[in-house]
Amino acid sequence: MTVIDDVLASQRAAHAAYAATVRGAVSYVTDGPSGHHDADAMERALVSEVAARLTVSRRTVLDWIGTYCAAPAAVRDAFHSGLLPWAAFRSLCRALAGTTHRDERLVGRLIDAACGATPGSVPAAIDGVLAEYDATWHRKAREAATAQRGMTVRRLPRGQAELRLRGPAETIAAMSRRVTDAARRLCGTDSRLLPARLFDAAHAVITRGALSCTCPDPVCPHRDVDTTTLPIPRACIVIDAATAAGLSGEPGHLLGWGPVPADTARHLAADATWQAVITEATSSPPARTDRDPQQADPPLPVANAHRRGRPRRLSGWVPDVGSTERSTAWAAMRLALELLRAHPEQEDRFRLPPPNRIATPPPPSALVYAPSAALRTVVEARYATCVAPGCRVPSSDCDLDHVEPFDHDEPLLGGWTELTNLEPLCRTHHNDKTAGLWSYRMLDHGIVVIRDPHGHTYFTAPDRLDR
Ligand SMILES: [Zn+2]
Ligand SMILES: [Zn+2]
Repeated sequence: MTVIDDVLASQRAAHAAYAATVRGAVSYVTDGPSGHHDADAMERALVSEVAARLTVSRRTVLDWIGTYCAAPAAVRDAFHSGLLPWAAFRSLCRALAGTTHRDERLVGRLIDAACGATPGSVPAAIDGVLAEYDATWHRKAREAATAQRGMTVRRLPRGQAELRLRGPAETIAAMSRRVTDAARRLCGTDSRLLPARLFDAAHAVITRGALSCTCPDPVCPHRDVDTTTLPIPRACIVIDAATAAGLSGEPGHLLGWGPVPADTARHLAADATWQAVITEATSSPPARTDRDPQQADPPLPVANAHRRGRPRRLSGWVPDVGSTERSTAWAAMRLALELLRAHPEQEDRFRLPPPNRIATPPPPSALVYAPSAALRTVVEARYATCVAPGCRVPSSDCDLDHVEPFDHDEPLLGGWTELTNLEPLCRTHHNDKTAGLWSYRMLDHGIVVIRDPHGHTYFTAPDRLDR
């Protein structure tokens, strides 16, 4: 029988073998025969030789050399051990090439982030660590990246062509939101596949034309949707109160898109087409007390305005760059996560105290199955994606799952509808959980511990903390 550990070992061996190929090729070229009167010509000839013998392009060989030679020792070690596949190794080296920091802890944290991410999400994982480490650097790097925005058109075979836009995440998010919102207005029975619907919606939005539903209903109200009159759909930016007030430089978070610098976050928060979720990050860690029977449930840590039914708006607010101080609640979460990843057996230290169901009944809303819109927004702000390891489905497209199941007959006795018992799960991962094959438990600091069918544990950290 195949054991998952054997599969893992062969994957690591394959990564390590690729690393050995890269190292071999690099040293073959850089330690090549000396004594030729033109060292550069010699090196170019050796690059061509490696490319020809390994049947790869010269560009690949040059990429190997440039990346490998610039890599810090610790990153190289991770590459050789098979922990980092080539693509992740390269992303990490590129990210570090833009920084002046060579703090060992930072490099270690970046390696962990890159090892823990699926290949496609390595750049975003690295960005998250760097933004957290140095908000000022992140802002500058982002400005430089924004300057490189652009549009390219590529001709493809069979009369096709491709249009690509590249730019700041919040701008692309706003554009894509308009297109997906227009496409969503079509009936479910529309004859086109989703990519084709999106293409037709994008065409209609850009050319200010109409989008027409192709469902069989002859009186469908979406026969000719005028895309110029559609309301602008709102998206969510999560920003903590201190950053919003200009007192802190903590990055904001575009749900599903990643961190944005504090000043960009403040700017978006003041824009009517964005919905700002303002979270209260305290500068001292919350006291670890068990539930006090005399005390009411703590208020929902969401913008006060949310409780009044409207997000708090910051119109006319003058952006300012604040300090880069991180909240201590966040630091405490990072410490707990590091400890748990190194010593998963210490999970019990971070268990949430069991609720005292009789002495401290929860607020009525916790005994209703469906979470309120405000609570849903807070959970989506907390976890940008499905909490299953490596899953990239945005939390706004997920089911909000009760970590401990809700009891429909006796809501008081089951898991409550509250922040510490809700997690976003995409449909696939939700089904795995419902089938009893994967299990989830919420720990302190919003960390979710996940067990696969063979008992291996994974820890998912929140993307934002609200208190
Ligand atoms: Zn229709
Ligand atoms: Zn998922």
